[in-house]
Amino acid sequence: MDAPIRKVCVIGAGTMGAGIAAQVANAGVPVLLLDIVPSQGADRDAIAKGAVAKMLKTEPAPFMSKAAAKLVETGNIEDHLDRVAECDWIVEAVIERLDVKQALYARIETLMRPGTAVSSNTSTIPLANLVDGRSDTFKRGFLITHFFNPPRYMRLVEVVTAPDTAPEIGDRVSDFTDRALGKRVVRAKDSPGFIANRIGTYWLAVAINSAMDLGLDIEVADQIGGRPMGVPKTGIFGLVDLVGVDLMPLLSKSLASTLPAGDAYFDTIRPMALVDRMIAEGFTGRKGKGGFYRLEKGADGQRTKLAIDLATGEYRPQRKPAPLPKAAEMDLAALIAMPGASGAYAWSVLGAVLSYAASLLGTIADDIVAIDDAMKLGYNWKYGPFELLDRLGGRQFADRLRAEGRLVPPILETLGDRRFYQIEDGRRRYLTAAGDYAEVVRPNGVLLLEDVKLAAEPLLRNGSAALWDVGDGVACLEFTSKMNALDEQVIQLIQKAIPLVQSRMKALVIYNEGSNFSAGANLGLAMFAVNIAAWGEVERLIASGQAAFKALKYAPFPVVAAPAGMALGGGCEICLHADAIQAHAETYMGLVETGVGLVPGWGGNGEMLDRFASAPGMPKGPMPALGRAFETISTAQVSKSAAKARELMFMRPADRITMNRDRLLADAKSRALALADGYLPPEKPVFRLAGESGRTGIAGAVRDFRAKGIATPYDEVVAERLAFILTGGEADLVDVVSEDALLKLEREAFMSSVRDGRTQARIEHMLDTGRPLRN
Ligand code: NAD
Repeated sequence: MDAPIRKVCVIGAGTMGAGIAAQVANAGVPVLLLDIVPSQGADRDAIAKGAVAKMLKTEPAPFMSKAAAKLVETGNIEDHLDRVAECDWIVEAVIERLDVKQALYARIETLMRPGTAVSSNTSTIPLANLVDGRSDTFKRGFLITHFFNPPRYMRLVEVVTAPDTAPEIGDRVSDFTDRALGKRVVRAKDSPGFIANRIGTYWLAVAINSAMDLGLDIEVADQIGGRPMGVPKTGIFGLVDLVGVDLMPLLSKSLASTLPAGDAYFDTIRPMALVDRMIAEGFTGRKGKGGFYRLEKGADGQRTKLAIDLATGEYRPQRKPAPLPKAAEMDLAALIAMPGASGAYAWSVLGAVLSYAASLLGTIADDIVAIDDAMKLGYNWKYGPFELLDRLGGRQFADRLRAEGRLVPPILETLGDRRFYQIEDGRRRYLTAAGDYAEVVRPNGVLLLEDVKLAAEPLLRNGSAALWDVGDGVACLEFTSKMNALDEQVIQLIQKAIPLVQSRMKALVIYNEGSNFSAGANLGLAMFAVNIAAWGEVERLIASGQAAFKALKYAPFPVVAAPAGMALGGGCEICLHADAIQAHAETYMGLVETGVGLVPGWGGNGEMLDRFASAPGMPKGPMPALGRAFETISTAQVSKSAAKARELMFMRPADRITMNRDRLLADAKSRALALADGYLPPEKPVFRLAGESGRTGIAGAVRDFRAKGIATPYDEVVAERLAFILTGGEADLVDVVSEDALLKLEREAFMSSVRDGRTQARIEHMLDTGRPLRN
C-alpha cells in the first residue's frame, strides 16, 4: 500500500463511533476518539471517556482484549481537533444531521494533513451533500464508510466513493477496512440507504404490512418469512424486536426524505397505530419491555411467552404454528404455492422484495454480487436476493409478475431462462447488468474452501471429514459433521491423511467454513455408547483420538490449525497439537469437558502443562504451571476472542491472528508453507510434575470453593481426577513423567468419569437443555 494507516481519529463517541474505535484498537492500531464538550461537569473529555468505560462493561464485548482498550485515547473537539493532523484516517460518526457534519468538515479541513482520508458513517445522507462547499483537496480524500451495528461483530462495511474521490484513497481505506478491521467491503453507489438498508427496510415494511393484511399470527409470519427464506430464525417480527421497534419509524422517515419520488418504498408507508402505541408504552423490543414478542412473569414466578395480536394490539400466549410441509421448508416454489394465506404471504413478501432488489441493480450497486453480499452480511440472510431468485426460478418469477400485471425489472427480462449464477470450469460466474457472465473475483489474499470445492474432488472423504488440496502443496483437513463434532470417522480420516500428506504434499492446515470450527466430541454418540455400556468402544475412541492427535503433532510436515468461532473440547485439543495456530480474531476456545463431568481426553492436559511450563516469564518449578493449567481446565474457561485465547495460553506467543474470516485459509496456508522449509517435528516433552504434594495444595483450594458454594460436590470429584493427571498420578516430585505416561493417566481419568452416573446425568442434561447441570 502506498501510505499505510497507522493512526485513526474517530469523531463522535456514540453507539457507532465508539464501536468503530474499539474495532480499530482490536486491530492493534492506535485511535483518538473525540466527542463534544459536555454542557455540564468539569471533565471536558467526559463523553468520549464515558463511552470507553461503558464499552468495557458491555456484553458481547466491543473490545477483544484489555490491551486493545488501552489503544484508545479520548478527547473533545474543542481542545483536541487539531490532533487530526496526527491521523491517516478520520472517521466521522456524529449524529445524523447534515449541518452538524458539514460544520465539522469545515473545521477538519483546515487542520488535517493533505492526503488524509476522511469518511462519514452516515446511514442516509448522500455523499454529494456532505462535501458541498469543501475544497477539491478535501473532496479527493472523502468517502463514506458505512459500518453496521455492532461494528465488531457485523462483517459488512459499505464503501461509497464519488467521482471526485481519489482512487487511492478509496483503495487505502477499503484495504484497511478489509485486512485490519476484518470486514467484507462492498462497494455501493451514492444512493439513499445504500444497499442493505435500502432493501432491508423495504423488506421489513412489506413483511409487516402483508402479515397485517392477511390476518396472520406473527408466529406464522415468522415461520414462513424466516428459515425457509434463509432469514435468521428470529423471522421478521423477532428481528424488529432485536433491532428496536422505535428504529422503524426513524428509518422510514429518514429514507422517505431522501428516496426519489415514485420509489416503491412509498407504497409501504401507512399509519401504524399499533407501532406508535407500542413505542409510546415502552414496548420498544428486547431493549425495552418487550416488543411484538415478550416474556411475562406470572404471580408464581413462571415466565410466559406472549405474542402481540396484530388485529387487536393485545398480547396473548405465544402459539406454536403447525409445522410447514417438508417441501415448503426446502423449496421456495413450493412455499409460494402453498394454499391459503401461507402461500399468499410467502409470495407477497418474495414477489415484492425480490423485484424491488432486482429493479435497483445499477442504482444501488453495479453488480448482483454486491447486492447479495450486502444482504447476507448486513442482514444475516443465508441467500442474497439474486440467489433467492435462482432458487425460485427467475423465469417463473418474471412470468408470475407479468401475469399479475406487474412491472418486470429489466435484469429479469435480460435473464430469460438462465440463472443469475452459474459454475463454469470450476469457477463461479454471475450475470452482469449487460447480460453476459463474469467471474466472481475474490480480492487478493482471499482463498475459500467453498471455491476450491467447485473445481475439485476431495483427496479423501468420509461422513465426518474431508481432505482437500488447496494448492502449492498444502492439504486442508475439513470437518463436515453436524456442529463439526469430532467422532470416530474424523479420527479415521486423520489417520489416512497423514501418510497421504507425507507422500504427496508439503503441509497440512486444519480449517473449515462452518460457523464454528468444532463444538468438540459428539456427546450424543458418547451417551449412546454409555447407554449400551460399550466401555471398550469408548476407551478405544479415546486412545485412537490421542494417537491421531499425537501423530499430527509428530508428523514429518508442519500442521497449522486455523480455528474460527467455537473451538471447544476436542476442537480445542486438536489445535493444541498443531505446530502453529492461525486463528480468526473471533475464536472462542476452551477445554470445557469438566462442565459435563469429564476431563480432556485427547492429550489436552499435557499440551496445556507444556504451554504453561514454557511460557515466557513463568516461574520455575512444577507448581506455577500446574496452578495455571488446573485453573484453566477445571473452570472450563473459554476465550471470548483470539486475543484472549492467547492470554489463556491456548495460543502461544508465536501464533497469529487473522482479522478477516475470508483471509484465514490463505494466511494459514502461507504460515504452513513458511514452516515447511527445513521442517523438523517437535521433540517429545518430558514433564516434571508436582506429585502428591501438588494434589494436596489443589485439594485444599477446591475444598474452599465448595465451602463457599462455588464448586458443587461432583465438581470436587472431577477436580480430583483432573489434579491426578496434572500432577503425574503416583509419580513423585523428583520423577520424570513421559508424554505417554501422562496420556495413560488421562485415559484412566476419562474412563472413571464417563462410567460415573453423575457425569452421565450431566451429559444428558446438556443434550436435553443445552445447559450444564450443577450436581
Ligand atoms: P449516537 O447518537 O449514538 O452518537 C452520536 C454521537 O455524536 C454522540 O455521542 C454525540 O455527542 C456526538 N456528537 C454530536 N455532535 C457532534 C459533533 N459536532 N462533534 C463530535 N461529536 C458530536 O449515534 P450513532 O447511532 O452512533 O450514529 C452515528 C452515525 O452513524 C450517524 O450518522 C448514523 O446515521 C450512522 N449509523 C448508525 C447506525 C446505528 O445502528 N446506530 C448504523 C450505521 C450508521
